[in-house]
Amino acid sequence: MTLPTTILDDLAAGMDDLETLYREFHQMPELSMEEHRTAEKISEHLRGLGLEPFLCGGTGVVAELRNGEGPVVAYRADTDGLPIEEDTGLPYASTATGVLPDGTETKVMHGCGHDTHISTGLELARLLTEHRDAWSGTVVFLFQPGEETSAGAVAMVEDDLWDRVSVPEVAYGQHVWPGVAGTVNVSVGTAMAMADSLEVTVHGRQAHGSQPEASIDPIVLGAHMVTRLQTVVSREISGSDMAVVTVGTFHAGTKENIIPDRAVFKINIRTFEPAVRDKVLEAVKRILEGEALASGAPAPTVREMYRFPRCFNDEAEARSLIGALRAELGEDAVRETPPVTGSEDFGVFPDSLGIPGVYWFFGGYSAETVENGIPGGNHSPFFGPDDVRTSLTTSVRAGLTAILSRVGV
Ligand SMILES: [Zn+2]
Ligand SMILES: [Zn+2]
Repeated sequence: MTLPTTILDDLAAGMDDLETLYREFHQMPELSMEEHRTAEKISEHLRGLGLEPFLCGGTGVVAELRNGEGPVVAYRADTDGLPIEEDTGLPYASTATGVLPDGTETKVMHGCGHDTHISTGLELARLLTEHRDAWSGTVVFLFQPGEETSAGAVAMVEDDLWDRVSVPEVAYGQHVWPGVAGTVNVSVGTAMAMADSLEVTVHGRQAHGSQPEASIDPIVLGAHMVTRLQTVVSREISGSDMAVVTVGTFHAGTKENIIPDRAVFKINIRTFEPAVRDKVLEAVKRILEGEALASGAPAPTVREMYRFPRCFNDEAEARSLIGALRAELGEDAVRETPPVTGSEDFGVFPDSLGIPGVYWFFGGYSAETVENGIPGGNHSPFFGPDDVRTSLTTSVRAGLTAILSRVGV
């Protein structure tokens, strides 16, 4: 199957407008679960197409495009920005600000490229609305907030999403990454890692720095915990399995001659397999408790901050999509790739229904930039696709190929 030329011609003709739309979203990033203006702009655009969008899960936007008998397909685009000050030097760089949950003000940018996802989703809605003769069925558009905090997909499902729309038989989604614009990467099976984030509060006993015998030093104890956590991956997990254990923060104390009463650090864990995840989490818990015991300290308090589910591509669906994408974009433009250690909450949608899902990546940079070294990957202040036209043309074609492989006539 390849896309009808009438649709491709329309896509090419609308590319100036799409790039303008992309730049508008680029300049108005909002923090996770605070995407109010973004949701309004998305809704306005969808209403302009004659659809009836509604809010779901706070700042999520859902619109159902019904076009006669046929399969129901869900297409998801995430919408949130990140608390990063953009440093791309682009003429349309973001100067937006936002307020984090702890009350601090921050600069905000679309540092993960979700502005490309919004633009792609809206263009898919436009082309499918204007070319109803090319397909038959229903497409449910899910503009999901709060991907970066893993809050948004769950919020939408818990807001009775599936009682409010036609239930899909498959879910699709895609993400921009710093590869060559025009290319697409698809994994068969696991596509992205599960992630667990934990906050550990180490409880010690406060004392004067000159009297360590009166203390239980939470810094020494915490340091042992952090050091020993390095052995989870190196000594307990098979070389054929993937696991990452990173301690990304460590805070304790106020002055060099005061032994504080606590230390707080945060752990981030990535795994591909549920059994490996269980093993890592058990080992982490055992080490934290064992080290506390060794220091004569009470057990630490461990708070689960958030968790990302596995992003799993149904194998048959992924293979069939790879075939369709190669037919549409060219053999060389589509690669089958191993899973990545990043995480996503896209899987919540297919998992909550027990339906297959497929999630893939599309490139954002010119071949020349990729060759010379990209200025920064996703979540960097320098992240800014520099071949937006090719990138969006490809993401829209890939999205259409996936959707029409189900509902095309
Ligand atoms: Zn992202
Ligand atoms: Zn991200």
